[in-house]
Amino acid sequence: MNLDFSPEGFGSHAIHSTSIANGENAHLFPIVASSTFVFDSAEQGMRRFSGEEKGFIYSRFGNPTTAAAAGVIAGLETFNIKDKEGKQLQAGALLHASGQSAMATMLLSNLSAGDGILSHYSLYGGTHEFIYGFLAKLGISSVIEDFSDLNKVEDILKKHAHIKLIHVETPANPTMNCVDLAGICTLAKRYNAKVTVDNTFATPYLQQPFKFGVDFIFHSTTKFLNGHGTSIGGVLVGKDAEFMKKKGYETYKLLGGCASPFDAYLLMQGVRTLEVRMKQHCENAMQVANFLSGHPAIEKVNYNGLSSHPDHALSSKQMRHAGAVMSFELKQGLEGGKQFINNLKMCTKAVSLGTVDTLISHPASMSHSGMLREDRIKSGVTDGLIRMSVGLENINDLLNDIDQALKK
Ligand SMILES: *Cc1c(COP(=O)(O)O)cnc(C)c1O
Repeated sequence: MNLDFSPEGFGSHAIHSTSIANGENAHLFPIVASSTFVFDSAEQGMRRFSGEEKGFIYSRFGNPTTAAAAGVIAGLETFNIKDKEGKQLQAGALLHASGQSAMATMLLSNLSAGDGILSHYSLYGGTHEFIYGFLAKLGISSVIEDFSDLNKVEDILKKHAHIKLIHVETPANPTMNCVDLAGICTLAKRYNAKVTVDNTFATPYLQQPFKFGVDFIFHSTTKFLNGHGTSIGGVLVGKDAEFMKKKGYETYKLLGGCASPFDAYLLMQGVRTLEVRMKQHCENAMQVANFLSGHPAIEKVNYNGLSSHPDHALSSKQMRHAGAVMSFELKQGLEGGKQFINNLKMCTKAVSLGTVDTLISHPASMSHSGMLREDRIKSGVTDGLIRMSVGLENINDLLNDIDQALKK
């Protein structure tokens, strides 16, 4: 989405790019709840289908509200980034019914039988199962590596010429381990592979992967982008606008994972406050992490904002702030973790993340229960690990709730 002025701030862009021109001059872009769009004549229908004339046809192919929301996210992911000619980078975006669906379009539009994909241990559960279970059945093989050592990554790319794509999650769920985006992109270029990133935890406010040379970004908009937990959604953003119009769009249309215009509307409302929310989420998270790391009941805190985190320096280099998700281990392991969750009075016991309230879950028995224990442990999800998405509550109320739940 291009504005007719150039805001300095990300927040101004987010707010004004969601006030998109529309036929009714509505301040907020309307929900166009219509499955199909009417042609003036048979000839117009033909022109629309052939692509000779712009215009909507059928909402699985495209819808005004979902297209508007996709444009907003593309605008934020490319905010203040220039293309090779020094002009504002123009990315293409497709809004999906879920993050999982955006990820599927991303991988299936890029890979065919015989190709390979390289990724790392700490991946979102659904992505892990899709790559290592589902894609394998289609003849797309995968290699898993520890991305903290780029020499190892290069060895694999050297050995396996069929690797066409490197998929990265940074910060990763739930260890908050980070991947060096600039380093991975340099290697990928050398070995002719594309780089895709799950930017859900960071949002474009905290991290813009296109700056480092990444090719595709996907988000579960369900999380911080929507911000209020009101709907499931996903978006795929591609730097190569031509690819997005052709291969990306074809795959999107055929898989049928289009977003609902209602959800697209909610997403646009959420995005208007993204900057202020992220600032407060991150400030609260830093205080919670400091509190937890000094607490006698806590064994270990995984938060990239802490200088003790192995990727603290990397995260400070490529992100604006560390984010608002963390995980921690209680000294009393699984039993202690269960007790802690049950003792909480204010924090919400639920999976998911990025909502205005603090969400606390137990990955081993919830989000990661579909993984083999051995793989799960390797990805940092130990039996007693607790994951927390820090919300926007008053910080004293947050610390008091956590403290009383740890004391019992
Ligand atoms: C939630 C999530 C997904 C999947 O998104 P859905 O909207 O649930 O389909 C993918 N990656 C990350 C990091 C997530 O948190």
